Amino acid sequence: MNKVCAIFGGSRGIGRAVAQLMAQKGYRLAIVARNLEVAKAAAGNHLAFSCDVAKEHDVQNTFEEIEKHLGQVNFLVNAAGINRDSLLIRTKTEDMVSQLHTNLLGSMLTCKAAMRTMIQQQGGSIVNVGSITGLKGNSGQSAYSASKGGLVGFSRALAKEVAKKKIRVNVVAPGFVHTDMTKDLKEEHLKNSIPLGRFGETIEVAHAILFLLESPYITGHVLVVDGGLQLVM
Ligand code: NDP
Repeated sequence: MNKVCAIFGGSRGIGRAVAQLMAQKGYRLAIVARNLEVAKAAAGNHLAFSCDVAKEHDVQNTFEEIEKHLGQVNFLVNAAGINRDSLLIRTKTEDMVSQLHTNLLGSMLTCKAAMRTMIQQQGGSIVNVGSITGLKGNSGQSAYSASKGGLVGFSRALAKEVAKKKIRVNVVAPGFVHTDMTKDLKEEHLKNSIPLGRFGETIEVAHAILFLLESPYITGHVLVVDGGLQLVM
């Protein structure tokens, strides 16, 4: 397996689980996050890069570095994300902006940076990590939901734009998953509202991401991985 995959947000949580799964399958990986030390620890024998996805120059430079060291990128996973949960009336504008910049603009920038290579090589596969909140909305997460809903529109539009170049773009939309992002949530209270009765594990989302990355005839799809939460939201 010589394929190269860049995983933004690959140092922790869902992105890290994707990295572990793909490493086992022999992919060559670029693990990208802001904190280089944490990214290096997650990368093991693979390469780690520091990058803030919200900064265009950073993203451009990182892609150049990745291609210099690993060659052309075949697969891209956008798992970098942040949340700043609060009711809209209490949400600071800077928190709205940072969520939109990291969760939506960040993925747009990495996709744009990947396009040149993928168009040149007439092929590629991208999975953007959205959220069930982007489809259903969630009280206390209006800016976060906006960023994730925007990601669906963006991904489907890009899927149409580049299908003829044999580039596929899909979204995985998780529900509650055990990561740093959800560590302060009270699972005991929330689990009763999830049909499968529990939060998900990162590896369960990682399998869905890898499935879409490797599925040659699926594009523009949103795969929900939420223990049935969307059925009752
Ligand atoms: P974690 O907080 O565990 O990990 C987030 C990752 O993103 C880290 O690697 C972090 O590294 C990186 N990251 C954050 N901001 C930036 C940035 N500006 N530039 C580059 N990298 C960044 O989150 P999860 O694994 O839980 O989340 C992964 C994705 O899944 C996110 O998009 C999240 O919105 C989404 N999601 C998560 C759910 C959950 O229940 N956990 C549910 C639904 C969706 P560093 O801080 O070093 O930059």
